[in-house]
Formats: sequence, structure tokens, C-alpha cells
Amino acid sequence: MPTPIPAGAPRHTGGCLQPVLLRGRADYIDGGTGELIHRYTTVHEPGGVLPVACKTRRASRCPPCAEVYRADTYQLIRAGLTGGKGIPATVADHPCVFVTLTAPSFGPVHTRREGRQLDIRPVTANGDMTDTKVAGHVAKYATKAAECTGTLDRRITPADRLTDLPVRDHARRHIAACLRLGKLPQLKDPRLAAWAHTLGFRGHFSTKSRTYSVTLGSLRADRAAHQREYAIVAGLQPDVDSDTTLVLTDWRYAGRGDPLIDLLAPMGGVPCPGS
Ligand SMILES: [Zn+2]
Repeated sequence: MPTPIPAGAPRHTGGCLQPVLLRGRADYIDGGTGELIHRYTTVHEPGGVLPVACKTRRASRCPPCAEVYRADTYQLIRAGLTGGKGIPATVADHPCVFVTLTAPSFGPVHTRREGRQLDIRPVTANGDMTDTKVAGHVAKYATKAAECTGTLDRRITPADRLTDLPVRDHARRHIAACLRLGKLPQLKDPRLAAWAHTLGFRGHFSTKSRTYSVTLGSLRADRAAHQREYAIVAGLQPDVDSDTTLVLTDWRYAGRGDPLIDLLAPMGGVPCPGS
């Protein structure tokens, strides 16, 4: 049996500021003979760990990952309006409107600034509300949902004091109501306390029919396939037959953050630009 050569894995963290660090290995085994074709191990990586992007959609947590989410959401919405990414162009013939609902509790000032409480505009190719405008608008808010409602981008913990949270008063009242109602046995299922930071809402940001457009999952799978091809060409990953090769993996969580920062810490930390 040939000695497997550890190879550096492709690290496409896209500049993630808070990557998840994994320690472990991946064995590529010939399904027919049981022969070990290739082994990847993190032993030879900086710090002995493999950084993986956090993939958050919150710009307040990780701007580079949120930018990827924004771009994917843009492509998803746009393909559903005009076609592309495997969606037929005939979808553009379907009637389409952009509806904005403003809650009465947002008050008359917000309503005056943003328009009526119920605002319905047709989405057309050349009008006031185009497909690119809608896609850009929805994608932008996908990364900023928490900040826009003046609430938190993380869960509330028992250590948090409601009065100290950096949120708007309006959001604070919603959060207080969620925490209070969440204690009632008859309101156990909505898990309002766990989702108080999103004011009780626990759905996805963009809820859509599965037949509306491509999915975020398919866009991510395409990107992963592209990166895999790049890694094979660069000699970072073996070019194996995916139908006959077994890949056995063993990963363990090894922390969060940039492993290079930990490596540089004993030498005085990461050098500052210009220092
Ligand atoms: Zn990230």
C-alpha cells in the first residue's frame, strides 16, 4: 500500500473574521479494494487546525461572510423574477408585485417617511420597481435584519440585564414581552424566550416556495464544486472517482478565530500595518 501523503487542504474562508477551527483528517479509500488512496490531516496546517468560514448572514458579526450571503440572496431573488441559474426565463411573464407592510406600532413618523402602511408596487422590467432593484433591496436587508429592527444579533442569555441591552426601547418592550410570555405553559411551543432577540420570530429571513427559484443550498453546492475543481488542479486534493471512492472523515471542534493570531501571539501578536 503506498504511503499516503498529507496534502494541504484548500482554505476558502473568504476572509471570515471568526472561522470555526477543526482538527482531524479525511481518508480517501478505494471502494473496491479498500486501499487508502489519500489522507488529508490538519497536523501540517498552521496551528494544526483547519479554519472553516462561519457563514453567518449578519454583517454585524462577520462582514465577509455576510457579503457572500447577500450575493447569494441577490442571485436567488433575481433568478426567481427573471430566470437564470436553471430557472426558465418564462418566469418573467408571471405577475409580480413588491409589497411593503408597515406595522402600526412603527408609528406615524415611520409611516410618513416610508410610505403607506400597505404599499403595493408592480415589479416590471423598466418601471419604478425592477427585478434588479427588488433583488438588491431584499439581499441588502438579508444581512442587516437585526440592526434594522433595533434589536440584537445574538440570543439573550441569563447573564443579560434587559435594561442594559443596546437596543431601541420599542425592541426592548417586545423582548420583555417575549421573555414574560415564554414562561407561560400554554405558550411553550413558540419558544418565545429563546427567540426574544428576534422579537419572537423564528422563521427564515427569506421564506419562499421551493418552486420559486434556485435555493441557497444549490448555489453553495455549485460554489463548493468550483472550489473542489480548483483544489484538484492546484494539487491540494486528489482527483478521485466520487462514485467508487469512500471518504471517511473524523473532525473535532478546536475553537474559533484565526489560528495565525494564536501562532503569532508568543512573538508579540499580529503586526499592525505600518508598525
Ligand atoms: Zn465569517
